[in-house]
Amino acid sequence: MCLSSPIPGQTQPQAVGHCNGSCTLDRNGNRSTTTSVANGGELKHRGKHTTTDLDDDNLGYKEANAVYKENAIETAKLQEEQEQKSKEVEEEEEYRPQIRWPDLGAQTFLHVGALYGVYLLFYAKFYTFLWVVVTVWVSGIGITAGAHRLWSHKSYTASLPLRILLAFAFSIAGQRDAYTWALDHRIHHKFAETDADPHNAKRGFFFAHVGWLFLTPHPKVVAKRKVIDMSDLEADAVCMFQRKYYIPLFALCSIILPVAVPWYFWNEDLFMSFWINFNMRFTWTLNVAFFVNSVAHMYGNKPYDKNIMSVEAPIVSLLAMGEGWHNYHHVFPWDYKTGEFGNYSLNITTGFIDFCAWLGLAKGRKSVSQDMVIRRAEKCGDGTRFLSDDFAHKDSVWGFGDKDIPCEDLVELAKMQN
Ligand SMILES: [Zn+2]
Ligand SMILES: [Zn+2]
Repeated sequence: MCLSSPIPGQTQPQAVGHCNGSCTLDRNGNRSTTTSVANGGELKHRGKHTTTDLDDDNLGYKEANAVYKENAIETAKLQEEQEQKSKEVEEEEEYRPQIRWPDLGAQTFLHVGALYGVYLLFYAKFYTFLWVVVTVWVSGIGITAGAHRLWSHKSYTASLPLRILLAFAFSIAGQRDAYTWALDHRIHHKFAETDADPHNAKRGFFFAHVGWLFLTPHPKVVAKRKVIDMSDLEADAVCMFQRKYYIPLFALCSIILPVAVPWYFWNEDLFMSFWINFNMRFTWTLNVAFFVNSVAHMYGNKPYDKNIMSVEAPIVSLLAMGEGWHNYHHVFPWDYKTGEFGNYSLNITTGFIDFCAWLGLAKGRKSVSQDMVIRRAEKCGDGTRFLSDDFAHKDSVWGFGDKDIPCEDLVELAKMQN
């Protein structure tokens, strides 16, 4: 095989068939070429085999050049990979979260304005209070049944009218578009409690609750956002419409509609309505969602997997319409109920989806068999799954004389009495 360099300005001859060539130079600089042709192909040579012409030889020159090119491509690829790796290591080492001031300003405005809204609520009309309850619940369903259980987890399928309704309800909540919400939530589930988790609970309560929204994300979060599969949502016209027109939808559904209705229908003061029906209502819903990321990752039992941070938090379930059964949810994220226990009162969202299924608007509800739950709880749980079980205390005894005292214990007891 000849590894000669190309000579500029010379045309590369074409070879028919695959060829293996080798060449040597004699004392006078003339090159002799030995070729073998695979598959009986015909080789075409142009000109005499002088030193210059031989560089144009497609047998030695072309193949050698191809090898050279292959090596160059491989080397470039290796260099690129090494550069990428060292860049990632550098980014990780250098990562210091920076405050995103516009986001911090927005959160401050929302929360301070919300406190003012609570104060104004004492002076508002009763219907305004009822309107807050209605909008909180409707927007809450948009988060739980829409962005969470439908778009993030695909735990059931929804018909077009239901998806439109859920997109509308989620726009009232105003917690970014469903695509972005689901993207971060999928990353949260796949990389929970690692640097790639957008609201990694290991970084503390405040970060998991709200800090992650006004700090620059960890480079691993940014990297995972690029690779997580979102093709199902990209194929969902309703989801993509809400993403495309999010800003006008936010203005219309999350600000204008909630604020204008009390002013138009029962003459509520517009200024008062803004602080109550936008700031207070919006911030309340926001914090309830935040509780799932903070409280439900910190304070409670772990019946299904004691090795993860998420817990069962009934109070969060009450406030967040059934999203507080978070240890269960992280173990079985495809279950549309997001929990094993608790009736509809602590899981209103499940009631809503079941009702939609009854109407024929929702189908394909995924769940988990009790056997699967018990197997997982026995294997990984902290034991609290079985505390309320009928057989949980079958070996308990009421005192000395109980026939259920084990025989070996009785033998020891007899010795102690002597
Ligand atoms: Zn989830
Ligand atoms: Zn979680």
